[in-house]
Formats: sequence, C-alpha cells, structure tokens
Amino acid sequence: MTLDAAELARLDRAHIIHPYLPGTATERVVMTEGAGCRLTDTEGRSYLDATGGLWLAQIGHGRTDLADVAHEQMKKLEYFTSFWDFSNERAIELASRLAELAPDPLNHVYYTSGGSEGVEAAIKMARYYHHRRGESSRTWILARSKAYHGVGYGGSSAAGFPLYQEGFAPMVPHVSHLTPPWPYRTELYGDQAATPQDVTDFLIRELEERIAEIGPGNIAAMVGEPIMGVGGMLVPPADYWPRVREVLDRHGILLIFDEVVTAYGRVGEWFAAQYFDTTPDIIVTAKGITSGYVPLGALLVGDHVAEALLREQGFPMGYTYNGHPVATAVALANLDVIEKEGLLARATAMGAFLHAELQSQLGELEVVGEVRSVGMMLAVELVADKATREPLPLDPERMPHDVIRRETGVIVRDSAHSLVLSPPLIMTEAEAKEAAGALRGVLERTEPNGR
Ligand code: PLP
Repeated sequence: MTLDAAELARLDRAHIIHPYLPGTATERVVMTEGAGCRLTDTEGRSYLDATGGLWLAQIGHGRTDLADVAHEQMKKLEYFTSFWDFSNERAIELASRLAELAPDPLNHVYYTSGGSEGVEAAIKMARYYHHRRGESSRTWILARSKAYHGVGYGGSSAAGFPLYQEGFAPMVPHVSHLTPPWPYRTELYGDQAATPQDVTDFLIRELEERIAEIGPGNIAAMVGEPIMGVGGMLVPPADYWPRVREVLDRHGILLIFDEVVTAYGRVGEWFAAQYFDTTPDIIVTAKGITSGYVPLGALLVGDHVAEALLREQGFPMGYTYNGHPVATAVALANLDVIEKEGLLARATAMGAFLHAELQSQLGELEVVGEVRSVGMMLAVELVADKATREPLPLDPERMPHDVIRRETGVIVRDSAHSLVLSPPLIMTEAEAKEAAGALRGVLERTEPNGR
C-alpha cells in the first residue's frame, strides 16, 4: 500500500495521538528518509536536523552499517529475556563496554528501553538501596524546578514544570524541589548574586537547609540533569556539582545523574559526569546510546548500590526488553562509530564553531539575551529587553522555531524561552552556518513584543 502525502496526513490526523499537539492542528510533517543531518518528508521537502530528533542522533541519520548489525543480530537471536539467570552475548558485551567508559565505581548496568523507564528504575533503586541497608525511612527525593525526567510517575513527580503534574494528580509523594542553577537569571538568587560562585553559594545553602528541614535520615536521593535540557539548556557553575556531591555524601544521600540527553558525546565526553568531574551513584542514559536507531536505555550503577540491590532475592523489577539483543548490538555498533570517528572531540570542536556562529550572527539582536553551550548542546535565550532580561513574550501562533522550520527547513526546538539546538555530532561547518543563518533570518524580524 503506497499512500500519497495528503492521504498520509489525513490518516495521521484521524488515528495518531501526538504528544503536545492539539487536535485542531492540521499540519503534519511526515518524514520518509534521513541521511547525515538531513531529512526528507513526503512532499519531497528537505530539512536540516539541528535538534538531532529529540536530543539524540549523535552519529546522524541513515547509517546502513547500523542497519546491517541489526539485521544480522535479528537473524541470529532476535529476543530472549534477561530475567533470572538468562542473558545474551550482546547485552554482556555492551555492559562491560559501558563499565569501561563510565567513571569508577559505576561498573554495573541495568537495561531499559528508554529514558523514562530509566528514571523510574533509578528512583526505585535509590529507595530500595536504603531499604536493603535497613534505612527504610529514606524515601524523599530531591529534584529541581525546571527539571525534566521523562513521563513515568516518578519522573513526572520530579519534573519541575506544572505541565507534567496538572491533571495527573496524585503524584508520587515525598518529592521536594530546589532552585535550578541558571547563572543568566541571577535574580533567582537574591540581590547579592553577581558571580557564578554566588549562585552556587545560594544553591548549596538552600540544599543544606532543605536537608535539615526534611531530615537527612528521610532522604533517599537527589536526581538532576547535569545540564538541564528541556528546561532551556541551563548550565550550572563549574563548582555546583562537586559541591552538591560533597553535601550529599555527608548525609548519606545518593546522587542520580539523569544523563538521558548529556551522555554519549553530546557534551564532548562520554558522560557529563566526566565534564563536571563529579561521580554520581547512578547515571541514567538512553537516547544517544543507539543514536535513536532502536530504543534502548542503560543505568550505570555504582558497586556499592549494586551490592545492596543484589542481596537476598535481588532487585525485584524488570522490563520485558531488559538487555534486548538487537538493541544492545546496535548500541555497540553506535559506540564504535562514536569512538572510531572521534565524535567526542568533534562535539567539542563543532559545538564551539556553532556557538561562535550563533554569537556572531545573533548576539547583537535585540531579542537575543544570551547564547550558551556545552559541546553540541546550545541555546539562544530570547528576551524582550536585553538589559532587564525580561523573557520574550511568545505568540503560540507564531513560535520562532515553527517559523524557522516553515521558512528555512531548519529544525530547532523551543524550550522555555530559548531556542535549543542539539544537532548530530557529525554536523559540518557549512550546516552549522546554515542553521545559524536560519535563526538570524527569523529573529532579526522578531520584535521585542514577540511579533
Ligand atoms: N530524562 C531527560 C533528561 C530527558 O530529556 C528525557 C527525554 O527527553 C527523558 C528523561 C525521557 O526519556 P524518554 O523520552 O526516552 O522516555
């Protein structure tokens, strides 16, 4: 059955519930092919993928070598469970590879099919770890405003946006939200915050006070994205994570890094834990582990946590697709590409290039407050007034990222008053220039009132 573009769009409207798309929306962009950073839709229109899908696609689209690996593995063993004492070759190879790449002592892997499942598992692991060690009172989870941790109930409860909670209540109890690190918005930290150091001082004071309020013996873990992605690409001051780690250690509280976005080269290292020189107890990963070729997630778990989880009957939760042979085979091939093509170094270099392009093409515009980046995570924060940093009012009918896509074919994303870019790590300089130029073309016409 070959359907034409109009019929596909009609059937999509009739049958698919898309996340975050109102029923009144008529437009559909139906992608058919991808190669490198380019995508093509059913109308034959070409796009530049400056978001890497949803913050992934590290190695770019259309790699037939990964397709071949999936094909071979599927012919050999498409699936068997990893429950109990069953295992498979590829899951074992990938786990030992991840243990090598991750900072010590993160030597254990728990597989999932994606980031949301991973966050649920991490929160449950943290509570269960304390339970197994005789501290069942440790149930509280510290999270932060502006956080995004996927869409399970644990992750939605830890999320720092009302959107993920309104209408879904009751949420998981015993979650407490702290202020996010967002050095551009010094107003969040009182009148005194002038330097990144002041921001960290404020946040560490708040963390200590919150721990005292809840009682350290009642707190299981703090969960955080090392760099907040959905919240608008918020980069903490360099001393934030090391100091948070030190406070949590003093109180026996686990640190969970949600690296669903930041792992596997996005920030120029295998993990943002290495970028921030901070070793958490658990790292949640997904997305870039396969560059999106098939769904997979992996938690990297510290020796001490694994030891507690593996006592008695072991860790009592599993997903049908834990350690899926095809997904883990594709992940191994994806990591090979990242390594052989030097994509960690490339993310740092190309991220700096794209940052410089954005800065030079957009920096002077009235509606651009700040360009910020780490590796291939970049954001352009939009403001109504450069001096007061008041956020740009956005017209839902004319969101800048939609206008950019329609007018130029460059796909960027809107995140909390910032335009966010997270392109494939293989992006070329010409493509980086094209992306920056597309943003400029639209933003130079955008007035401080958002029109
Ligand atoms: N955690 C973070 C930080 C994310 O950005 C995302 C997705 O964007 C998730 C978790 C959820 O991952 P998934 O959509 O694979 O369930």
